[in-house]
Amino acid sequence: MDVFKKRYKREAVEVGCTKCDRRQIIYLPDEEIPDCPTCRIKMVIKEVLTEGKY
Ligand SMILES: [Zn+2]
Repeated sequence: MDVFKKRYKREAVEVGCTKCDRRQIIYLPDEEIPDCPTCRIKMVIKEVLTEGKY
């Protein structure tokens, strides 16, 4: 069986800065939500891009 090949599902999410609207795509839970390098505030999730929703 290849049960163990099914790892946890990665979610591609688009995050963005609320101040300057810089956007970036990250993968959860592999990556953490980054800070905006310009404004030095935490970005927020704008959109979840994962295919095939629950
Ligand atoms: Zn910013």
